Amino acid sequence: MSEELLKVSGLRTSVADEDKEILHGVDLTVGLGETHVIMGPNGAGKSTLGSSIMGDPRYKKTAGKIVFKGEDITDLSTDKIAKMGIFLSFQNPIEVPGISLSNFIRTAIENKTGEHIRLWDFKKELEKTMEILNMDPSYADRDLNVGFSGGEKKKAEILQLLMLKPDLAILDETDSGLDVDAVRTVSKGIEEYKKSVGGALLIITHSTRILESLAVDRTHVLADGKIIFDGDSSVIDDINKNGFEKYLAKEDER
Ligand code: ADP
Ligand code: MG
Repeated sequence: MSEELLKVSGLRTSVADEDKEILHGVDLTVGLGETHVIMGPNGAGKSTLGSSIMGDPRYKKTAGKIVFKGEDITDLSTDKIAKMGIFLSFQNPIEVPGISLSNFIRTAIENKTGEHIRLWDFKKELEKTMEILNMDPSYADRDLNVGFSGGEKKKAEILQLLMLKPDLAILDETDSGLDVDAVRTVSKGIEEYKKSVGGALLIITHSTRILESLAVDRTHVLADGKIIFDGDSSVIDDINKNGFEKYLAKEDER
């Protein structure tokens, strides 16, 4: 494996105001610039894992550790984690009335880098990036996600990814519910991220469509709050053809 970027070890996560444990000891290591896929049945805890890595206050970590770029980030706030270079694309992006897409991204970049970016430079880069994603330039001035279609929300997430240039992008079902053209555009955006930023990816998905043009280094199967199998990219095709049963049965034998 290449140099270690993210190391999750023995992570146990519960819902913050309940005692319900969702992740029961997750281990996961992602190397610099690698592409990893997480697959698993609905309710397995995939989104919870993404949110936990990102420091979402809705969840509390009761055991284990998350190390990113050699630093323990287990108890850091989402804001600090984002600044360190992790980006999470939500399964259901929220609408933010009163803040334009453009201002949202600019503030996020300034927050991350701690530096002021000139409006002109920012606008030029934003325009160029929106073009890659076949986004109408008028979306830049529209309130974030308000009245955006499902596909447009996902494109807006990928736009943020390309503008923020994180070292690790966690994409939570970014391709779900998209039509063929939108999937193609999102894939193009992810390829662009790999090419121009060279960051690592942790892709939570059920489909192979956005993976077609990516070289997947490792696939993890998450079920009932645990990683029950690690394998190469062949696991993805196998699961899509034959389902999760074989993997779940293996777990029962352990
Ligand atoms: P996945 O993304 O794999 O479909 P999730 O991580 O969304 O699964 O959810 C895993 C389990 O944890 C589900 O049973 C879900 O209902 C529960 N869960 C997740 N978040 C919360 C929450 N904030 N409050 C209560 N239950 C939650
Ligand atoms: Mg989910």
